[in-house]
Amino acid sequence: MGQLPTVRVVSGREKKIRARYPWVQREEVLSADKMPAGSLARLVSANDEFLAIGTFNPVSRFPFRVLTRSDEPIDVDFFRRRIREAAARRGDIVETDSQRVLFAEADGVAGLIVDRFGDTLVLQVRTAGMEKLRHAWLEALEMEFEPGAIYDKSDMEGRREEGLEPHAGLVMGRLPKPVVVHESGLAYEAPVETGLKTGFYLDQRDTRRRLGERVKAGQTVLDTFTYVGGFALYAARSGADVLGLDIHEGSIAAAKRNAKRNGLTVDFQNANVFEWLQAGGDGRRFDWIVLDPPAISKTKDKRDSLKWAIWKLVYHGIDSLAPGGRMIVCSCSYQLGLNELLDTVRLAASDRSRSAYLEEVTVQSPDHPILAAFPESWYLKCAWMRFEP
Ligand code: SAH
Repeated sequence: MGQLPTVRVVSGREKKIRARYPWVQREEVLSADKMPAGSLARLVSANDEFLAIGTFNPVSRFPFRVLTRSDEPIDVDFFRRRIREAAARRGDIVETDSQRVLFAEADGVAGLIVDRFGDTLVLQVRTAGMEKLRHAWLEALEMEFEPGAIYDKSDMEGRREEGLEPHAGLVMGRLPKPVVVHESGLAYEAPVETGLKTGFYLDQRDTRRRLGERVKAGQTVLDTFTYVGGFALYAARSGADVLGLDIHEGSIAAAKRNAKRNGLTVDFQNANVFEWLQAGGDGRRFDWIVLDPPAISKTKDKRDSLKWAIWKLVYHGIDSLAPGGRMIVCSCSYQLGLNELLDTVRLAASDRSRSAYLEEVTVQSPDHPILAAFPESWYLKCAWMRFEP
């Protein structure tokens, strides 16, 4: 392989890496050999002790990202091992043909996300380092999964921070039209090319299932931010009367096709949830309201905007909630953690003179592993709240 260039961390910061945190911040770099952006490099302590091999991109906020803490080559075999380790790490992922097979840092492949929908793989590359290693991980993915198609959905604006252009396109094979995800006996069309993220939110699988278990026939459910009908279909299958809302017409069209595909009846409407709730909804009072807003912003200074958004949703949502009704309030941003989410709900409830009870907490499904040493990997949490007058 030849000798890799060296990146040295400032004294003391090697502890973090030894504790299995995978990122080195810009201020923590003591010195770095000259190398092209995204190069593989060796990370050493200020005393020149070997710490890790990873990728280096001087323009990134986190210039060095760990791939391995062993002195080993980063090649096709490395990625094949990572894919198998990731599979072993996933707990009980049952009754689905779809899962996130690689979750970036939490699976030891910093900057690479791969979702499998049936025999289609959809991936996102977030770092210059992973772009450079594309030939190796692509070959590993093809060998391990023998997919019918691989689609690259790296159209995230965040790539610009790494000096990369957003882009999307087919890498190999043929995309099924449409791509369909089977989950708990339901079938969802996943709009890979036109939809959000990789096309489907696998991370809410367990929370959707839980809703399906808890909802009783005859209850009313409002699924705001429904996307392609995620929560709505589970609730409808449990016999509830369901209204699904989304601001995006394409999502509503897909959600309607998904209801039909499963022989379910759901009322899907195109609406801005904030305005809809603030205007008092349609006058009905629902037994359940699912609030799963997108991450308004991922950066710390704008964390308040997500907090404020959730406050508004809960505050106005109370007008559309039956007495003793429940809200599932989700934050999909690491920046808004569980305690802050609960604080926000508590504030909105007390501003409306309600008592709010936390009944349970659900998190991202186990194919999005949470690495304790890397708190950033725990991004999704949903607080199940019951409100009383
Ligand atoms: N709960 C879904 C995922 C939600 S993704 C699931 O389980 O699959 C967030 C969705 O919110 C997107 O579909 C987006 O179009 C929608 N959205 C964003 N802003 C909105 C707004 N102001 N009103 C309604 N929908 C909105």
